[in-house]
Amino acid sequence: MVFDVLDEKGFTLIELMVVVLIIGILVAVAIPMFGSAADRTRDTTCIANLRAIGGALEQYKAEYNTSAATLDQIVNAYFLKNPPTDPHPGGGVATIDAGTGVVSIGTGHNATQTNGDAWPTF
Ligand SMILES: [Zn+2]
Repeated sequence: MVFDVLDEKGFTLIELMVVVLIIGILVAVAIPMFGSAADRTRDTTCIANLRAIGGALEQYKAEYNTSAATLDQIVNAYFLKNPPTDPHPGGGVATIDAGTGVVSIGTGHNATQTNGDAWPTF
């Protein structure tokens, strides 16, 4: 009885297991990257909201010679279309602390950005 080794059809179990292992490794690498991309997008949105509020605050101050105490004042003066909402999970609407004048862009984000950087101040 003679076996022709070059006449094999299909793949061996070992070959299939190697392919499945490689696909598994690629998926394991890709899933955390997609998750952090969404988090970075939320961070970027919050920073853009903060810039928009900062610009509107300066416009309000230039127009009325006094700082706005609430975001509603800025919205009512048409320097901001509406108070931005925080896209982070559990985030709320941006507010201004009437006592200190500190702007909060929501309550959903972490102490630092997803990439570890501190949140910018304006
Ligand atoms: Zn946020």
